Amino acid sequence: MSISNSVVQQLLETCTGWRPQMYFKSSLTALSHAMEDLVLNDSDTPLVIASFQRERFYRQEAHRYRRISRKTNQVYVLAAPETDFGNSSEDYETVAFEPTDTLAQEWHLVIIGQNYSSCLICREKSLPTTERKDGAAMDTNRRFEGIWTFDRTVALRAAKIMLDRIAVYRPELTAKIGQAHDLYLSSKKGTNDTVHINSPLTNPDPFVQRLVTYLQAGQYKLLKANKSLAAKQQKEQLLNSVNDAVRRSLNTKQILQVAVQKLGEGLGVCRCIIYRCHENDTVATVDREFIGSGIKSVRGHKWQLAGNPLFEEAVASTETISVDNTLEDERVNEIASEKGTGEFFQNLIQNYSISSWLLVPIFYYGRLLGVMELHHCAAEPIAWKPDDIALVDAIATQVGVALIQAEAYADLEDLNEQLEALDRTRSNLVAIVGHELRTPLSTIQVCLESLASEPDMPPELSQIMLDTALSDAERMRNLVQDFLTLSRLEGGGVEWNLETLSISECIDLAVSNVKARNQEEELPQINNLTTPKDLPLVQIDGEWLVEVLAKLLDNACKFTQADGKIAIAVKTNGGNTIEVTVSDTGRGIETSSLETVFDRFYQEEGALRRSAGGTGLGLAICRQIVKNWGGEIWAESPGKDRGSKFHFTIPIKAMNQKSQQPAQKATKSRSNKKKSNKKQDN
Ligand code: ADP
Repeated sequence: MSISNSVVQQLLETCTGWRPQMYFKSSLTALSHAMEDLVLNDSDTPLVIASFQRERFYRQEAHRYRRISRKTNQVYVLAAPETDFGNSSEDYETVAFEPTDTLAQEWHLVIIGQNYSSCLICREKSLPTTERKDGAAMDTNRRFEGIWTFDRTVALRAAKIMLDRIAVYRPELTAKIGQAHDLYLSSKKGTNDTVHINSPLTNPDPFVQRLVTYLQAGQYKLLKANKSLAAKQQKEQLLNSVNDAVRRSLNTKQILQVAVQKLGEGLGVCRCIIYRCHENDTVATVDREFIGSGIKSVRGHKWQLAGNPLFEEAVASTETISVDNTLEDERVNEIASEKGTGEFFQNLIQNYSISSWLLVPIFYYGRLLGVMELHHCAAEPIAWKPDDIALVDAIATQVGVALIQAEAYADLEDLNEQLEALDRTRSNLVAIVGHELRTPLSTIQVCLESLASEPDMPPELSQIMLDTALSDAERMRNLVQDFLTLSRLEGGGVEWNLETLSISECIDLAVSNVKARNQEEELPQINNLTTPKDLPLVQIDGEWLVEVLAKLLDNACKFTQADGKIAIAVKTNGGNTIEVTVSDTGRGIETSSLETVFDRFYQEEGALRRSAGGTGLGLAICRQIVKNWGGEIWAESPGKDRGSKFHFTIPIKAMNQKSQQPAQKATKSRSNKKKSNKKQDN
């Protein structure tokens, strides 16, 4: 049986002039115990009706009701069953109601004696969600509203309502309930008519009333103290969790995301964003954000800083700027009237519905690292609380430290990489010098010693000795030459001679150079796939372009079998560059080495075991040259023995117009320069 009528409501309807009062749970517990004690310590035989919201609340009082039942046989206890509570007529009447019954939300105790009467008729108020989290706090926070009084008329009315209800739940008790009516309710004052009863403040018993007021006030203070303690604790937890999370990471993006997420959720703001910027930046990109549901995202948006009075003030004062109401803020209004920036700023506020704004600069030792912003976006603005501002400040400080740490770590990693590369270069250099210089030197020495010690050596043999010594001297010269070229390129000691050239002519020249250099060897077939007519002219130093092409072709020949193929292709890149590709069907390059092949002295098999000759400086030189004209060079290979492709880009001449004799110009210029380069090297 479940009844939806509220007893509190029913009682208030028949007692006009009475207003429900608010009671904390602890006050009600004290009051009901006092009322029960009155029964236990008096000689009266009263009617006692107690209604508990749930069986477990009744269980705590069961022993008292057993004692009360020894005083009077008119005791009724009601509760919503949880385990074994049910209708029974043992020491006293127990009455079970459904958990859906309104009684499950109410708490009643009615006592009608000959000498005294009292009633407590209350209903529980639901707690706001923020107070529901913690179980212990929730119990002390529970609040009820209703009537507690010694007024006999009100108590009689309450008893009647309760007895009528019990008769519905347990009709078999009709006779006993009838007795209760006769004994306690059929007194002079009617229980059916609606009467005007004075407010409880005029209730006789001022002492008790005052006591209850004190009890309530004490409880209220406790509640407030608990609340502020809980809020403080929550903020401390939030700060700790942000600190913890940002300290655990050295990844800038992660640090920023954790900070906005936790802060946004913790303070329940509509939008929390963070962007990195410096004092003089005019615009920043919103790196990370937290947004509440239904709030417009600004992630990745360009955020105007120049002319933003809040940003400027925050940078100048190095302090957090809070705007409670953007529509009424002086700084905002002042700039809003300005053309350009003002309009932009006004649009920003409107577009992103920023009604209250908190702008927190992230400084580290006076250096601005970024800004954190909190936006409230509802129509009704809010006032930023000093506690919240202090919390956001503390978080901004932590984020600053974490960002600096992450930056330092990234620098350290870069430095480590550079050191590793340097170390690789150093060991390669030692190996190269040991092998590439000492080997030819020894050969030269042996040849010359033989020539000197054997004057009668047959002329053919002495010719072989001389040729060997000369070719090894050439090998050494090449190494020294490459070494000097690279240091001049790296040190900026090269004079660049820009010319307008046709790329295909340079390719032809490079191919013929390579063929001339390797006359005695059988080379793979070299196909030139360029279509000169379609290609724009390039603006470049022709000598160095031929140098790059020749080095790539040399490598392709070196690492491809004679029956393999080499191809040169050129295409425009759509933009302002031309892309040249030298591909071969040779031994290929491991994916992991595609970048390291450009390191100085890199050689796949190591300098000491190399069979193909070379210095390990060719590609490093190519990269320096291409870098110097603003292009890029990179390698591609499907893997070992599956060929390689070397690509590089060249800037196209602006306002392209084809020159009539570019090739001669390139050739002439190249041979002239070669001379001058050599002169410098010597
Ligand atoms: P080297 O004088 O040793 O050729 P490079 O700097 O020109 O020096 O080349 C560095 C290394 O890159 C070579 O030793 C080789 O291991 C690899 N390499 C360069 N070009 C090719 C290619 N076309 N095919 C396969 N490997 C290549």
